[in-house]
Amino acid sequence: MNYCLNCGAENPPEPCDHCGMTLQLAAFVFRRRLVYLTAIFLLGTMAFLPAAQGYPPLELDQMLVFLGVVAGITLLLAVLLDRRARNEQGLEALRRVFRALLPLPWMLSALLYVNGRFDKTPPTIAVTHVISKFTMPGLVRPHRLIVSSWRTTGRLERIPVDEDDYSRFKAGDAVEVRVEPGFAGIPWVYNVLRHEAGVALRAPAQPHNQ
Ligand SMILES: [Zn+2]
Repeated sequence: MNYCLNCGAENPPEPCDHCGMTLQLAAFVFRRRLVYLTAIFLLGTMAFLPAAQGYPPLELDQMLVFLGVVAGITLLLAVLLDRRARNEQGLEALRRVFRALLPLPWMLSALLYVNGRFDKTPPTIAVTHVISKFTMPGLVRPHRLIVSSWRTTGRLERIPVDEDDYSRFKAGDAVEVRVEPGFAGIPWVYNVLRHEAGVALRAPAQPHNQ
């Protein structure tokens, strides 16, 4: 089965009787549209950053890995689609996968925004200890406090914080991580405060050096 690269009509004659484009013209229009769509996709991955900064999910690093994999596959598909369109080869299956991946970063960004923006529940407070810190140079500088986990999911949590909190805390500090449950059920970090000894909230006061 062949499809018109412009309008998607099945087994089009030359020129396509649905949109009137020749094979060559349809391929040209398709490749130009591919550039726009890829740009819109990349803008979506950019939109993820402010959303994740405003309402940082606890599982931010896993989400970034997921987004990175999706972006890699999408860009690879864009290159393959462009090449196949130029060589006038069939590409309908690849195009469908490409189309399905396009809205993902926008959906994920919107989800994070809605998840935090409409979350009216008071945060739960987890008292824990900073074990180490992690940052990386580059355009998007992640700042993470590695703390011992208060959940049953694991031994450590990688808490996304801003630059101020990152420099304020050091290994061994007792901290209160305020976690919101999330409007869409994605737990996110409201803020991180220093845990003062004697003001025990849930866990007993623990040794810390300030
Ligand atoms: Zn057509």
